[in-house]
Amino acid sequence: MLSVSEAIAAICENIEAFAATDVALGDAQDLILAEAAISDVDSPPFDKALMDGFAVLADNVADGRATLDLIEEVTAGRVPTKRVESGTTIQIMTGAPMPDGADAVVKVEDSKIVGASVELNTSAVRPGDNCISKGTSMRLDEAVLECGTPLLPPQIALLAEIGKASVSVRRRPQIAVLATGDELVPIGETPGPGQIRNSNEAMLVAQIQRAGGEAVALGIARDEPEHLRECIERGLGCDMLLLSGGVSAGKLDLVPSVLAEANVGQIFHKVRVKPGKPLWFGVRSETDDSPRCHVFGLPGNPVSSMVCFELFVRTAIRRLMGDDPCEPRPIKARLDSPHQAKGDRPTYFPARIEWTPSGPTVSLVKWHGSSDLRSTAQANGMALVPAGDHQLAAGDSLEVFEW
Ligand code: AMP
Ligand code: MG
Repeated sequence: MLSVSEAIAAICENIEAFAATDVALGDAQDLILAEAAISDVDSPPFDKALMDGFAVLADNVADGRATLDLIEEVTAGRVPTKRVESGTTIQIMTGAPMPDGADAVVKVEDSKIVGASVELNTSAVRPGDNCISKGTSMRLDEAVLECGTPLLPPQIALLAEIGKASVSVRRRPQIAVLATGDELVPIGETPGPGQIRNSNEAMLVAQIQRAGGEAVALGIARDEPEHLRECIERGLGCDMLLLSGGVSAGKLDLVPSVLAEANVGQIFHKVRVKPGKPLWFGVRSETDDSPRCHVFGLPGNPVSSMVCFELFVRTAIRRLMGDDPCEPRPIKARLDSPHQAKGDRPTYFPARIEWTPSGPTVSLVKWHGSSDLRSTAQANGMALVPAGDHQLAAGDSLEVFEW
């Protein structure tokens, strides 16, 4: 049986990032830049006022006081026509170009207009006060974002500033979700005797979207080879197929055998992890009418499915999208109360992670096993308790993962 890190390595070995493609900047949130971004402007593009006030020669107001002749007013979007000479000033608004001659701005709150003059009463003025020189933050032709940068709002804003209406990225994978199980009914229905709602589909769709993928929900496959085969064939048309249920050792756990018939080559089955041991992963090579498809058989129990997604499926999605590193990155948090660990597998507990003034803390959610979504909904992440029988004390450091 593979360890968690061996399983992650096997996933990475079998997945290559998509080729680069252009998308509209408005659709690029969470995607990974596939080329360096080069600025087509200096920023700021001209020497610029950072405050509403008066453009001056700093020398004229070295001691903070001066009365100057007001010779012009310049608002943002306009260009000054006059030069500031000793004894004169131009009223200027935030964002407007600095007039020639001026090397500082005195803010409007420290001024009083008296007829055609301005009385300034401020602290000592130095060259550069309240203004910024052309090209201070970036230069024309400078590389401002590296290839491989994840695009979050600050990076998107910068790309907009340099005129990138479209950007080269790796696209979002299309990911089919297929729940299996005769006991399942759609969430809009009332379960009959022996039935439960298909909660995994909604959960996995939400996880896919948060990880940057595009979900395609395929509904419920019955525990019957013919129907399962038909549904799996539809899912294999996507870049990835997530099955939930049917991968354990039960009589009707048909997923591995039906996947084998559909030419999906198994990479691994079972991982030394709790919850999530029955996890299955394989790949079907590209065909004439479908792309290479990466297939995960997730255990049916909701919390097992959720944990396996966060550890393994998310890694696969981020790998396809070109994120590097693509695997989950833990932070360290202090355990809030003692915990008796037992078992031969590392366990990922639903957990509540809090940011306190003295650093992150974590409390393990009290739960009734891997079908307990009510308790899991108290969690905002998971905490790794290493394998073995051992006592954890309050204050011990654990690796935690935010969801
Ligand atoms: P299985 O892996 O198919 O043996 O399922 C394990 C447990 O997970 C069983 O109790 C199932 O009823 C439950 N389960 C399976 N699929 C789902 C689903 N889509 N939504 C909620 N629970 C499920
Ligand atoms: Mg089942």
